Amino acid sequence: MTTLDFPVETRLLVAGTWRESSTGETFAVSDPSTGRVVARVADAAAADAEAAVDAAAAALPEWVGLTATARHEILQRAIAGLRRREDVIARLIVHETGKPLAEARGEIANSLRFFDFFSQEALRLPGEYWPQIQSDRDAYVVHEPVGIVGAITPWNFPAFMVACKVGAALAAGCAVVLKPAEQTPLTALAIAEAFVEAGLPAGILSVLPTNDPAGVGRVLLERPEVACVTFTGSTAVGQRLLAGAADGVKRVLLELGGNAPVVVSDDVDVDKVVGQVVRARFANAGQACVAANRVYVHRRAAARFIDAFSTAVQELRVGDPWEATTNIGPLIDIRAVETLEDQIARSVAQGAVLRTGGRRTRDTATSAFLEPGILTADGALDTFGEEFFGPIASIVVAEDDDEAVRLANDSRYGLSAYVFSGDAERGRRIADRIRSGNVGVNCALTSDPALPFGGVRMSGIGRERGRAGVLEFLESKTIQVGRR
Ligand code: NAD
Repeated sequence: MTTLDFPVETRLLVAGTWRESSTGETFAVSDPSTGRVVARVADAAAADAEAAVDAAAAALPEWVGLTATARHEILQRAIAGLRRREDVIARLIVHETGKPLAEARGEIANSLRFFDFFSQEALRLPGEYWPQIQSDRDAYVVHEPVGIVGAITPWNFPAFMVACKVGAALAAGCAVVLKPAEQTPLTALAIAEAFVEAGLPAGILSVLPTNDPAGVGRVLLERPEVACVTFTGSTAVGQRLLAGAADGVKRVLLELGGNAPVVVSDDVDVDKVVGQVVRARFANAGQACVAANRVYVHRRAAARFIDAFSTAVQELRVGDPWEATTNIGPLIDIRAVETLEDQIARSVAQGAVLRTGGRRTRDTATSAFLEPGILTADGALDTFGEEFFGPIASIVVAEDDDEAVRLANDSRYGLSAYVFSGDAERGRRIADRIRSGNVGVNCALTSDPALPFGGVRMSGIGRERGRAGVLEFLESKTIQVGRR
């Protein structure tokens, strides 16, 4: 059932067929900008996850047995199908997440670039050969697909996260059981339609929207046929999955929370830097794991930076995601607004000043709009150690580069960081000292299919994207062959 004015798939994809949940249950998907229900989607139960794993196990030998070229051709046909659906998927992303249409279009276009990159990588899976490694033998190493991959994705980039996981795993020759976030299942289902239409063998991709993520997740963790679980989401859920994977000694790839620091030196061109930091903080309404949360600005640049940054933030337009002039739509739901309001209140109680924003633009119980805001404080606060998953930046004045680096590194996270300096060499030297999986020097980070991405410390395990992202779904087998 949907209230949308275009047709969308709302059933589960299991064993190559679209079906209702085994329990007959459905759950509601709401548009965060209106609070209205846009669809009811089949609610996968543990039995559906079992069926998806069975189907994947049955289909895997055929998929693994295909030539690289044949796999590449199927992936290319799916990409062509996705191109035909680009507009529909962009609109679904707006309905499910509330992000502005331009950002949604950017996300699906980027997802296509990633799917295409991975389909090309399918042609280049590596192998190594050592002739006469010892006098009586040769050796070679083949990289085989790990097998069935359980993929769990978040709501903030509902197409892109699917592209990163499904694209890489299929390219590696794996089967995927995908559990999209309950807020954004329609985007995942629309993507899967293109793969079914492209002739992907039945069972190689299943999609299980569910209102019971733990129940479906448990099947992925407990079934021995599932070799790997790849997850993007909160650190708390990632920890639970890692613990749950221990019994089966499964490979677990985790892309978790971030709390990205920004170091701004005293020699910057403030106007240039402000634009980059605004982009790095407020894109996707600040709901991004790479978002620039904590700014540490050198005392000599602080007054100019805070003034210019406040002006730029006040110019951001919050509103209807379908309007071309909107920069920031709603957050994903009211709960996200309440969490940020609580973080702001606790920061102010600890001595922070709310310079601008941070208030609801509409006093309503159903739509989730929050003005972009800035907190400033004289020193690091406990709350600034938390990830603010929304449009609120914090700024702390640092005495010098050393103090800024120390504050930047004083975090349990290590996903992304940003450094701005008028002297690129000084910027690079600061970047060298920051403990993080990704650092942008004099630029906001963007995703590139060729570049590996992932976190250190509590931001995750493993790398996604790039060649490294495909290799995570392969395991090497070493074979020694005696010479006569
Ligand atoms: P979340 O952890 O609540 O949900 C993510 C996914 O996990 C969803 O599909 C959800 O249904 C599922 N899930 C929840 N509980 C589960 C369980 N017990 N078993 C199995 N699956 C379960 O996170 P969220 O609120 O959707 O996303 C926000 C968080 O994700 C932020 O912390 C953000 O930094 C992080 N994130 C990280 C990256 C990255 O690449 N590192 C990218 C995007 C988001």
